[in-house]
Amino acid sequence: MIKEGQIGVTTENIFPIIKKFLYSDHEIFLREVISNAVDATQKLKTLADIGEFKGELGDLSIRVSVDKKAKTITVSDRGIGMTADEVDQYINQIALSSANEFLDKYKSDANAIIGHFGLGFYSTFMVSKKVEVITKSYKEGEQAVKWTSEGTPEYKIEAADKADRGTDIVMYIDSENKDFLEKEKIEYLLNKYCKFLPVPIVFGKKQDWRDGKYVDTDEDNVINDTNPLWKQKPAGLKDEDYLKFYRELYPMSMDEPLFWIHLNVDYPFHLTGILYFPRIKSNLDLQKNKIQLYCNQVFVTDSVEGIVPEFLTLLHGVIDSPDIPLNVSRSYLQSDSNVKKISNHITKKVADKLEELFKKDRPQYEQKWDSLKLFVQYGMLTEDKFYEKAVNFCLVKNIDDKYFTLDEYKTLIEGAQTDKNGTLVYLYANSKDDQYAHIDAAKSKGYDVLIMDGQLDIHWMGMIEQKFGKTRFVRVDSDTIDHLIQKEDVANVELTDKQKENMTEAVKSLLPTVTKAEFDVDFKALSENDKPVQITQNEFSRRMKEMSAMQPGMAFYGEMPDMFQVVLNVNHPLIKQVINEVENREKDDMKAYASENKKLKQMIDLALLSNGMLKGEALSDFIKRSIDLM
Ligand code: ADP
Repeated sequence: MIKEGQIGVTTENIFPIIKKFLYSDHEIFLREVISNAVDATQKLKTLADIGEFKGELGDLSIRVSVDKKAKTITVSDRGIGMTADEVDQYINQIALSSANEFLDKYKSDANAIIGHFGLGFYSTFMVSKKVEVITKSYKEGEQAVKWTSEGTPEYKIEAADKADRGTDIVMYIDSENKDFLEKEKIEYLLNKYCKFLPVPIVFGKKQDWRDGKYVDTDEDNVINDTNPLWKQKPAGLKDEDYLKFYRELYPMSMDEPLFWIHLNVDYPFHLTGILYFPRIKSNLDLQKNKIQLYCNQVFVTDSVEGIVPEFLTLLHGVIDSPDIPLNVSRSYLQSDSNVKKISNHITKKVADKLEELFKKDRPQYEQKWDSLKLFVQYGMLTEDKFYEKAVNFCLVKNIDDKYFTLDEYKTLIEGAQTDKNGTLVYLYANSKDDQYAHIDAAKSKGYDVLIMDGQLDIHWMGMIEQKFGKTRFVRVDSDTIDHLIQKEDVANVELTDKQKENMTEAVKSLLPTVTKAEFDVDFKALSENDKPVQITQNEFSRRMKEMSAMQPGMAFYGEMPDMFQVVLNVNHPLIKQVINEVENREKDDMKAYASENKKLKQMIDLALLSNGMLKGEALSDFIKRSIDLM
């Protein structure tokens, strides 16, 4: 025996913590042990490069094996190994000088604890009742040693027999974690964490189907791709390579990405990666494929919130950077200056790529726009820097499926759609069919109508109104056509209170019950050629309701009735006639009067019909009455 002792003095707390706090993250032990093996291998390669190691490198594969009988998992490398002194220095003296103080402070924050200790090698004790390190340094004449600990502060180091240079980590898996002894489980973990490590990782042998069963071949089963696409030079890569890599990352994905960005930064931070733009149809299928974060080709996480702006989490792909501090809590990440730089850089690259596509091939960009829209709008709404660029390549589509930039569209409508106060009025519809009559009226006035049927459109329009100033978005059915874009002062309605009261009473008695709709009666002095009755829905209150309904916990807003205005055109001869007939009657008689007035009923139904609100019995009555009237 060379030495016996206790692992550091302040480490007494480490084992219970490893077991207690890190329960949910047990599986990372394999990543940690294999990462150490990769480091040891890379170090040896570097020593060979600079001439300090003169021996044969030979096969540098890292081998992972499971012995179900002995209940062990072993990870073996042929890296630099450790001398007895190095084991003492690197394994025994964990730098935990401030451990107690730190633990007190973060008792309940497992993440911070994982991060602070950079658990590494000691994470093996999350799953092992005993761990052995059998290691032999690459340095000539060094004795191989075996370090053993059973998850208590006691350890021992003894001389060992080991012919080859390198390190074997043997983990004796405890009974609670025996599922890690299943081949499938290890395969899953290797695939999750080690798929792109830079040194070959071997797990068993490749298998062949022979005589009705799988049998091992002589060939090593290498589970990783040591030179993943994002580490390669973009110049030599083809579209197929990127598409193939996408399928490698997301084997379950049906859709191909729209396009991608290859990131490659050396200064002032290191960052490589490939970001793919997916086809976003709705926000339901948004979060299935996530961006994967790597640190020197070791998978770290696929939750990149806090590292990139939220709207970029809609993208797919990989980001690899050793400069993202992983040993801090999420809330701290956001204020880290490196993370900020990285995040700004990615935002800029994404905006530049979109701009390039837009400038280089406008028709293709337009073709992809519907799938890109949600992403671009989300970015504009949440990141000022992105907004500044995107405002130049964000498109709007009109109901004839023509696409415009915001500048182009402004120029198009400026002449016809500026109101008497100099406000530019953008008209929109969210359904060509439902709002057909209003769209038609707008078109016959020489106005253009946008289609706004996206999930973020309401928020986006609100933002544009604020940023542009003197700009209003109004849905085509939010007022009568002359009032949508007011060009001159509108004529006053000259009715007495009694006339108004009686008319309101009569009209209300004729309105059918429409689910989730309530009606107000309104009077307007329109042209006598305009329709006698129209139904509109105030832009402001409708938008308020729709926006509130989207807030978390405010879904009940969506259940509240919609408010509509039944607008009577007091200049229309038919309405004039009704006004004359009712003005000298009693309010109480109105119901009886209205029920006799088939024409009034017909006018109201026509207005409902053109808004798609005449249904069921009311529609059937309308048809019968129409035939009678003929
Ligand atoms: P970290 O890797 O963050 O330094 P670890 O606790 O994982 O912390 O490892 C401590 C040290 O032990 C490493 O820095 C390395 O010097 C040494 N070590 C661990 N595993 C190996 C190995 N497979 N080969 C050689 N040295 C190793």
